[in-house]
Amino acid sequence: MRFRQRLLKSIFPQRWAEEMEADSRSWILRCQDCGLERSVWEVGDVRWKVVGSPSRYRHCPQCGHATWHTLYRQPSESPAE
Ligand SMILES: [Zn+2]
Repeated sequence: MRFRQRLLKSIFPQRWAEEMEADSRSWILRCQDCGLERSVWEVGDVRWKVVGSPSRYRHCPQCGHATWHTLYRQPSESPAE
């Protein structure tokens, strides 16, 4: 877990931290070159209650270099939400 994620988890109540992690996991970064998809949480980022720029310039492990990634929110998997 990256420092920023740890920091946010340590300063927020547990419930918020869980919500933040679940929310970050529901955001997907998709490589525009090869189509590799990873959750925002997986790449070490936190995206929580933020709406904004849909594109990120990120390193893609499949392409082996930095490419543009489309950021989008995948539909929730749990019906409880
Ligand atoms: Zn790629």
